[in-house]
Amino acid sequence: MRLSILGSTGSIGRQALEVVRDLNGIFDIEVTAISGNTNIGLLENQIREFKPKIAAVFDETSAAKLRMAVSDTETRVLCGEGGLCEAAAEPSADMVLAAIVGFAGLVPTLCAIDEGKDIALANKETLVTAGDIVIKRVSERGVRLLPVDSEHSAIFQCLDGEEKKSVRKILLTASGGPFFGCSREELKSVVAADALKHPNWSMGAKITIDSATMMNKGLEVIEAKHLFGVDIDDIEILVHRESVIHSMVEFCDGSVMAQLARPSMKMPISHALTYPHRQPSRDARLSLTDIGALTFAKPDYNVFGCLALALEAGRAGGIMPTVMNAANEAAVAKFLNGEISFLQIEDIVRDTLGKYSNTENPSLDDILKVNAEVRARLA
Ligand code: NAD
Ligand code: MG
Repeated sequence: MRLSILGSTGSIGRQALEVVRDLNGIFDIEVTAISGNTNIGLLENQIREFKPKIAAVFDETSAAKLRMAVSDTETRVLCGEGGLCEAAAEPSADMVLAAIVGFAGLVPTLCAIDEGKDIALANKETLVTAGDIVIKRVSERGVRLLPVDSEHSAIFQCLDGEEKKSVRKILLTASGGPFFGCSREELKSVVAADALKHPNWSMGAKITIDSATMMNKGLEVIEAKHLFGVDIDDIEILVHRESVIHSMVEFCDGSVMAQLARPSMKMPISHALTYPHRQPSRDARLSLTDIGALTFAKPDYNVFGCLALALEAGRAGGIMPTVMNAANEAAVAKFLNGEISFLQIEDIVRDTLGKYSNTENPSLDDILKVNAEVRARLA
């Protein structure tokens, strides 16, 4: 299998390359393109190890540096969104792992779909902001869209071989993040360093903050709606602190199927890359007796206002998820920079949503325009 990895320097990208190394000799994956934003040293190491045909770097100055650093290799270094799209459309690739964070992943992912590549999707913001367009193009091009997000991989595994009409509801599990059980009062004073301490997962900064605000679960509900064609109100969020059950599906006959695994992204990444064949993993195995008990609770929508806002935007549909996503990305960046407080993330998302009236069935141009507009407004 030949794979192009968009976002190879990120948390998901690096773990995907670990999976590629681990599977070597069992299920060989040739890495044909990689991409990153600024981490030139890491990209250089990845180029020397995996020898991709293309390495795309969003930032032009970084691309120029990388080009010098790897001038003795065969890898072509490209830059900008055009470069990312070329990496996504690299002719020999069978599959593209979409692991760029945020809205920046949308256009390159669409380029990959248009070129007939199967997609392993980690970049949830792509479906949040343009789910209808992405799903339509996937079906028109007849490519496969395989979820990498652990909950969606779990749901996909529970649904494999089942009839869509027999699904009653999806039970989407949530760790609850570092601030589970906190009051609004306690959240007033938390800083980025507190929010970056996730109890169960080690991830990129943006998704770690989204987990702390529980915006991440809201984004995942919208992601699930598009991936599995279900209504938002047929998705129930369950706080499950142990992150062992990655999600469940309830069927019309009362049966509930769950997928369990240790909290490691390498499992869902490997599942997406090698589907429909499962490949052996040498990683530690799940021991339920060590864990002892699995717990479940309802999310607190009053404390985690971002979760309620995301669900509201998801129910409204149209352009509102784009507005919500852009406002959240801008607000999270400000919080990480120490410019705003934790609870102001929610205020910014709420205020921005209040400034827009909905547009039904937005085109890609509408989505690109509104995303840029919201960011400019919050810059
Ligand atoms: P990360 O911040 O660790 O990595 C992001 C990658 O995107 C890096 O390679 C970076 O160079 C690249 N990038 C950032 N901005 C870019 C831009 N403007 N243009 C081009 N490239 C750019 O993020 P991550 O944690 O790996 O998450 C990636 C995606 O996967 C996110 O959408 C996230 O929600 C999703 N996801 C991550 C995890 C996880 O465990 N990390 C789990 C589920 C889903
Ligand atoms: Mg997830």
